[in-house]
Order: sequence, then C-alpha cells, then structure tokens
Amino acid sequence: MPIGATHRRWLAALTDLPTASGREQAVVGWVHNWASRRGFRASQDEAGNVLVRSRQRSRRRPVVAVAHMDHPALVVLEAGATEATAELRGGVLPGYIEGARLEVITPSGTLAGKVIEFDTKTGRALLAVRGAAPGDIARWHFSRDRLGYREGRLAARACDDLAGVAASLIALDLVTARGLHHLSVLLTRAEEVGFIGAIAAAKLGTIPEGARVLSIECSPSSADAPLGAGPVVRVGDAASVFSADLTNRISTLMRTTGLSYQRKLMAGGSCEATALSALGINATGLCLPLAHHHNMVDVTGVRAGKRKARLAPEEIDLKDFGGLVDLLLAVVSGLDRQKQALPFSLEEIYEDQRHLLV
Ligand SMILES: [Zn+2]
Repeated sequence: MPIGATHRRWLAALTDLPTASGREQAVVGWVHNWASRRGFRASQDEAGNVLVRSRQRSRRRPVVAVAHMDHPALVVLEAGATEATAELRGGVLPGYIEGARLEVITPSGTLAGKVIEFDTKTGRALLAVRGAAPGDIARWHFSRDRLGYREGRLAARACDDLAGVAASLIALDLVTARGLHHLSVLLTRAEEVGFIGAIAAAKLGTIPEGARVLSIECSPSSADAPLGAGPVVRVGDAASVFSADLTNRISTLMRTTGLSYQRKLMAGGSCEATALSALGINATGLCLPLAHHHNMVDVTGVRAGKRKARLAPEEIDLKDFGGLVDLLLAVVSGLDRQKQALPFSLEEIYEDQRHLLV
C-alpha cells in the first residue's frame, strides 16, 4: 500500500534518531512514547530489548516481528577538552571513517566533530571535538538537504534497522485495528556487534513459546535484489539458511496475494534469524533492499581501489517499504490458513504423471 502521512512521519522520525549498539535509549524512549499513545503494552526484558504487543490476549499462535534498534556509529569512551577517544560499533570499513565529519550527540545538544585517525586493530578513533563526554554517540554528519523523501525513496541516517522498526510497528498498529492480537514486535539491542540483544532474548525466554519469528532487516541491494522490486522473503543470509518450512509457507502464501515481493538469499550480511534459528527458534527473514548499506557508497568499488570512500545517507524505496508492511499483514492474517509449504502438491503431480513411468 502507499504509505500515508502519519506512517511517513513515524518512519522519518525513527530513521533520524541517534543510536548505536548499547546506546539505543533514544529509540527505546520513542517506542515507549509511541506505544503509550497508540494503546500498546511495551515492556523490556533484562537485556533492555523492548517487546510491544496488544493489550488484548489472543488464542492464536504468536507471530513475532523482530527488528534491531542500533545502527553503526562511534561511541565516546574518554573525552578531553578538545579531543576524544571513541569506539566503532558496527561494520564500517576504515577508509570511510578516516577524516569523516561527525555530529556528536550529547544530552544537552549536538557538537560538531571530526575523525582525526582510526586504528583498524583496536577499532578506536581519535576525534576532534569540544565538550564531549563518555557514552555520547558520534555519528556521520549529513547536511539536512541530503535527507528526507525524494523521488519515491527515503534517504536517512539509519534505515538499517530503524526502517525495520517502523515497518513492524506500523504493521502492529494496523493488524490490531483489524482485531488481530497475536503479533508482537521485539525490538533488539546491539545487533550490529553480533546479535547480542537477540541472543539475550532467546536465552531469557523473551520470545513467546511456539512463536513464528520474522527477522525484519534492511540488507544490501544488488543487481539480483534491487530497490523497487518489492520486499524480500529472505531464505537465508551470509551465515545460514532459515527455517525452510516457515520461509516456504510465507512465499507460497505471498504467491496467492498478488502482492509484489522477491524471494532471495541476501548474502550481504547476517541477520538475527541466523542467531535465533541456531538457538532453536522457528525463524525466518524479511527485508528491504538497501542502498548505501551502513552509509558506505560503492563498497565493491572502494575495495577494488577504483573509488574513493564516501559516506552517504542510507536509502530505501517507499514502494518496498509499503510492500513490507503489506507482507507483514498478509503473514499475520494468513499464515495459519497456509496449510501447504510448497506452491504445488507433489501427490497431485505424481497422480497425474505417474503413467509416464510405466
Ligand atoms: Zn541491520
């Protein structure tokens, strides 16, 4: 569906919040506020992951949409009067970090800064900044005119994975309004440094028993999975294949809806479905093709030495985003009725054609 003004506002607000692994408090605050305004129950587990659900109970088997609240950034460890040491949390190649202009988010406002040097071995950076303090998030500086909605796309500081957070919350809002109460949204911490929040959620039992889990991500687009070709039913990632039964059931269901989607292996990174599946949870992935993944322009060209490293806002296609919300709605309402995992019946084909074997 085309996304309306309210949903565009939520998406733009979430993808602009300062966040980093372990420093997700601005997102947590936004979500608590949103949940109380929209009448949802929001709670946190011992690891600080946020679970948002309907206030009404449901007898149906739960579906849980998982999205992570962090995005690659630097976090200040020590600060002097004019310089600070910061740690990189998340996957950004060194060439993009050296000399980068920063904005450092403090409790009392935003400071301008710059990376003086970056040590690849320790993952630490020396910053030029006045008045920073330990715990401050230092993120890439982008001028306002590079951000926002343009030509059917959103350019934002952190689509990965705040667009996933937005899609999950919008879907929760819409299905609840339709009287369905078996979807919950689990918003995790510290995914960019190794799915730490998701692992904690599995260990703590934050995910309800018997849940079908959908890990919602933004994943690097490619010629095979471009922006604008629809949201992706993700069969796996760089590390593993997800629950075959759940993934197949979803893509078979999607064939009957007439909605646009892509069925792809997005091998440009690993997502929480890998961690959750390995920990015994029935999980698969859904994702949005993403341009300038982790704010890096043309990583392949830079790695090959053909391009100069350049940082940019991440971009998603708004049709893909609306399609992801539609996909979530279709799964929440239709998954229990989807009896067949395959789009055809092997028994029927066999009965029709077995005469050929005579
Ligand atoms: Zn991500």
